[in-house]
Amino acid sequence: MNPEQKIPVGILGATGSVGQKFIELLTDHPWFEIVALAASQRSAGKPYGQVVKWIQNSPLNRKIGAMIIQPTVPVLPCKIVFSALDAEVAESIERDFAEADYLVISNARNHRFHPQVPLLIPEVNADHLKALGSQSFQKGKIVTNPNCSTMGLTLALKPLMQFFGLTRVHVVTMQALSGAGYPGVSSLQAIDNVIPFIRNEEEKLESEPKKILGSWDGSRFIEAPITISASCNRVPVLDGHLESVSVKLASEASIREIIQAWSTFKSIPQDLKLPSAPEFPIHYFEAEDMPQPRLLRNLEHGMAVSIGRLRPCSILDFKFSVLSHNTIRGAAGAAILNAELMVAKGYLSGK
Ligand code: NAP
Repeated sequence: MNPEQKIPVGILGATGSVGQKFIELLTDHPWFEIVALAASQRSAGKPYGQVVKWIQNSPLNRKIGAMIIQPTVPVLPCKIVFSALDAEVAESIERDFAEADYLVISNARNHRFHPQVPLLIPEVNADHLKALGSQSFQKGKIVTNPNCSTMGLTLALKPLMQFFGLTRVHVVTMQALSGAGYPGVSSLQAIDNVIPFIRNEEEKLESEPKKILGSWDGSRFIEAPITISASCNRVPVLDGHLESVSVKLASEASIREIIQAWSTFKSIPQDLKLPSAPEFPIHYFEAEDMPQPRLLRNLEHGMAVSIGRLRPCSILDFKFSVLSHNTIRGAAGAAILNAELMVAKGYLSGK
């Protein structure tokens, strides 16, 4: 795409943990240009660099730091907004933007189970974008990406379901601190500790993969008939959610066949060579102590998931560990990949 023709985009919730990751990933993006940053009334009207508690590894771009934060109302100078809004406020704000003819590409949970809103992972269910034709937010649209721990799990499950069928899943997560937003969990709670509770997280992990792995029948989403049990824990890791997963398959498979299914898995984003698509969405590691968050979370710029330790399970059929970067593949990077898919498929023409 010609840099002169970059598509203008805005970021809602630009000051938060995910909002910052959007800025990091969209600064110098080949297709999109940030033209608006919005946050709450506490932040609006001030230069971004003065307000934000920047917690990313790369320094804040000076031009972005000088941008004035806008109130979060649908008068931004763009037609596409990435939403990293707090879920407490996202529902009505995202709907207002969609009704004002914006395309809202959201990280928040609020519209994920709306009957016409795709819950999208481009490698898994790109065809769910067809549901956009049924949406009734006036002229605008909403597309969501899943919860950060759903992302790694569902990418790992997709090839299993495709090649062998899948009936039951048991998952235990070890989730990074950045998943709790900023400032998130206090140091006195987090250090030397594991917190065996994350509000609403188990419910999301038990429901979202079923919508994503299900189908769109032309008028509604049909959930995949899988039973999922999840237990979620917050651990003192900065970024990267690790999950211990056990699965029951619908047909027989060998360890070699499963690893082959994961390692060769590619899909539409890879065929279309989308800028944020990993070359391989799934990497399998043979080492007995992998995947580890500190070593593998940035694999393929944080967009690939790492799997290891595939072995027989004495209750279900197989068990393994899966790791994904929660604010990149599990949030901002995922939403940007959704937008790239929509550009490539022509859903953004006229925006
Ligand atoms: P966060 O750090 O708490 O940031 C929340 C953002 O929302 C801030 O920019 C805040 O602006 C803005 N905001 C709050 N109230 C507002 C209002 N009334 N009007 C306009 N803006 C308002 O949260 P986060 O971790 O970045 O998460 C953002 C969203 O992504 C959440 O819905 C979360 O569930 C979802 N998500 C997070 C992750 C993750 O790994 N962190 C992964 C997937 C999805 P101010 O600074 O001005 O208050």
